Amino acid sequence: MSDATITVLPGDGVGPEVTAQALQVLHAVEELYGHTFTVHQGLVGLAAIAAEGVAISETTFETCAHSDAILFGAIGSLPAGKNHSGGPRPEQALFRLRKEFGFFANLRPVRPVESRYDASPLKPEYLKGTDLIFVRELSAGLYYGHLESVPGKPSEIRRTGDEAEAIDTLLYTSHEIERVVRTAFEIAADRGGKLTSVDKANVLSSSVLWREVVARVARDYPTVTYEHMLVDACAMGLIRNPADFDVIVTENLFGDILTDEASMLTGSIGMLPSASLGQRRTESGSFGLYEPIHGSAPDIAGQDSANPIGAVLSAALLLRHSLGLHREASAVEKAVEDVIHQGYRTVDLHEGGCTVIGTQEMGQRIRDTL
Ligand code: ATP
Ligand code: MG
Repeated sequence: MSDATITVLPGDGVGPEVTAQALQVLHAVEELYGHTFTVHQGLVGLAAIAAEGVAISETTFETCAHSDAILFGAIGSLPAGKNHSGGPRPEQALFRLRKEFGFFANLRPVRPVESRYDASPLKPEYLKGTDLIFVRELSAGLYYGHLESVPGKPSEIRRTGDEAEAIDTLLYTSHEIERVVRTAFEIAADRGGKLTSVDKANVLSSSVLWREVVARVARDYPTVTYEHMLVDACAMGLIRNPADFDVIVTENLFGDILTDEASMLTGSIGMLPSASLGQRRTESGSFGLYEPIHGSAPDIAGQDSANPIGAVLSAALLLRHSLGLHREASAVEKAVEDVIHQGYRTVDLHEGGCTVIGTQEMGQRIRDTL
């Protein structure tokens, strides 16, 4: 029995539609397994700017801070021409949450559903058995590099006449590497699986340090086998034999590129969940923010046609990583797979011979199957 507090931030566009279905699934889990989830709702993004004048209010932020997990929808963009400087911008909400809660690990599972192998550019025999999860470092690396002579100063392009130069710094401390690597080993241990650490140690010092830290942390996880792989070899392996991977941990830029590559294995943006985790612990897991990888999709908002599966699978990650409810998380994932096997599809997944259903019916069918 688990007692947990969850804050739902539906946001803009299709965000409210898909998070409503994910929340209903959480309520179904609550009832089926005898847990108690206290749910708070808050505004973020354009919805918050319209109602409260800021992208996320102090009250909403405090509510998140007192929760075990955040279920997040999507944040929209200001209409073109309305992004005058100085005013509140919707994306500030997510930046603030990421920064203040120190989320340093971004999790992205990739598990193509067998009856949808055709949606992938890969041959079905290559995809068979693929079930992997990325742990991408989110808080350091090239995106945060500064000039060493002036710590904290972002790099800039320096121009002299026709010539120009620009410097980006790839800086990692052993502390920054250790915390994300530890998260990845924990996940690999939970899955009873193997860990692939991806780097470019034949060229980069930061990668040599990365390997050193991985080897040290590995001693605390004797049940997990691990390997080092160069990022170029990994990029190739994800296409050639994706089923060989289990948990992949890598630094920020490599993770950015490899997760987009791997997402194409499933062939659809509407299906993919994500989690952002930091140092803070809950009673039986990590405090985290869970969101589908897609955006607010304003082109289809309000039509009951958005695919809620990315949001529902994000709720499954919430159950697993913040509440420690592994059995329940797997049950939700299995229910999603079963509904796909039964031939039901939202418009974005449509293939010949399948039945097209709306957002709400997809959510309902997942709950019924659960
Ligand atoms: P934003 O500005 O919020 O990023 P966007 O339209 O640029 O919005 P996405 O929301 O990621 O970016 O959408 C990209 C495309 O994928 C759109 O055509 C959208 O309709 C479609 N799409 C995104 N999410 C879903 C979903 N859950 N179900 C179906 N289609 C989706
Ligand atoms: Mg977008």
